[in-house]
Amino acid sequence: MKIPKKVNRFCRKCKKHTEHTVSVAKKRDRSALKKGSLQRRRLRGLERGAGNKGKSSRGALSSWKMYGKKGSKKGDFRYKCETCNKMSVQRKGFRAKKFEIVAKE
Ligand SMILES: [Zn+2]
Repeated sequence: MKIPKKVNRFCRKCKKHTEHTVSVAKKRDRSALKKGSLQRRRLRGLERGAGNKGKSSRGALSSWKMYGKKGSKKGDFRYKCETCNKMSVQRKGFRAKKFEIVAKE
């Protein structure tokens, strides 16, 4: 699916419609906040011994049966305001096999 590089969108900071540049979000491992909270938990002595004492959910399933069940993915787009440089996240995602950001003619 082709996505225009520049779209007119409502900017919450400017409080009006402005031109935004579209970009795909980078895939990140774990946020700094999560890492910090894990560190804090360890310092408090709550993350010792067997099990996690119900503090965190189990990891993602790694069974081969679970791979590739869906042929499409939801894109994670970020919109950056051209006037105030404020980045905003899309509210609702949509599925497509492939995303392609193209410049509008
Ligand atoms: Zn703005």
